Amino acid sequence: MVIVMKPETQEREIEKIKVKMQSLGCQVHEVIGDNYTILGLVGDTSKIDPTIIQSNRNVNKLMNVQEPYKKVNRIFHPEDTIVTVNGNSIGGNKFAVIGGPCSVESEEQILSIAEDIKEAGATFLRGGAFKPRTSPYSFQGLRGEGLELLKLAREKTGLPIVTELMSADVIEKFVEDVDVIQIGARNMQNFDLLKEVGKTNKPVLLKRGMSATIEEFLMSAEYIMSEGNENVILCERGVRTFEKYTRNTLDLSAIPIIKRHSHLPIIVDPSHAGGLWWLVEPLAKAAMAVGADGLMIEVHNDPANAKCDGQQSIKPEKFKSLMSSLKQIADIENKEI
Ligand code: PEP
Ligand code: MN
Repeated sequence: MVIVMKPETQEREIEKIKVKMQSLGCQVHEVIGDNYTILGLVGDTSKIDPTIIQSNRNVNKLMNVQEPYKKVNRIFHPEDTIVTVNGNSIGGNKFAVIGGPCSVESEEQILSIAEDIKEAGATFLRGGAFKPRTSPYSFQGLRGEGLELLKLAREKTGLPIVTELMSADVIEKFVEDVDVIQIGARNMQNFDLLKEVGKTNKPVLLKRGMSATIEEFLMSAEYIMSEGNENVILCERGVRTFEKYTRNTLDLSAIPIIKRHSHLPIIVDPSHAGGLWWLVEPLAKAAMAVGADGLMIEVHNDPANAKCDGQQSIKPEKFKSLMSSLKQIADIENKEI
């Protein structure tokens, strides 16, 4: 349920309604915009009598939120959420580009990629240190050492770092060392992990599960927000279908759908979606055209010998030319890149 207050309602009147709603057993989430104040009610709203609220002279309107996601819902928060990390934003007019290898492999590798993507205009560096691999015999990541190398790359380039957290055991280290915590597709419904990152105030990049519906995806974001962390960035990375030419099928329609139903920023990962390096450019351009707030792209200096996902990684030169094409589309789309 959402209560929209009349403009210029005095603070103490708003406070009175909040206290009343809380006494009836629900949580009140207040959003103050330029010309409005919205009180979003979450939890048990069964004891609330809508006629009493509507008769309050300071109430403009009362709306029922049909969807199961509340804090994530645009009705709760009409304006786009902009997540800012060390001065770099994701959301609003800004089109953010996160680049970097699937996994951190060595100091030379991560430093050279970080410098190249920074020069090409990327605003964040990605790199897996703890890798979720289908086979236990595949490279599992450099783990703690990988985090140290990412920190070194951040120190050299100034790029904030994005890396995947697989287990709550190392969450404190991530909170200390990392700028954006990634929750991967395989953990999208690891609800305990979602709750743990929800208790921190670190920006969270939540990737869509490979067989998750849009509603399930948004409910996972709700788990994080319900614990108090509002810095959530969504990432569409393709879903599993019958198609075999691609690793996953990029669900482009999810972007405008999510932008309509939620205020959270949503970016696209064309690398894991297509699974092939030559699909990255067309899918990235399409993502910008359908209104995505950014991209996450795998870049490797030697894809043929990459320890992970080389077939879908583009080289730094290709990343540079892709960035300049994106700049042209950004002009038409009124986005800043
Ligand atoms: C990744 O971004 O490195 C990754 C493993 O992606 P996903 O969780 O989308 O498969
Ligand atoms: Mn990868």
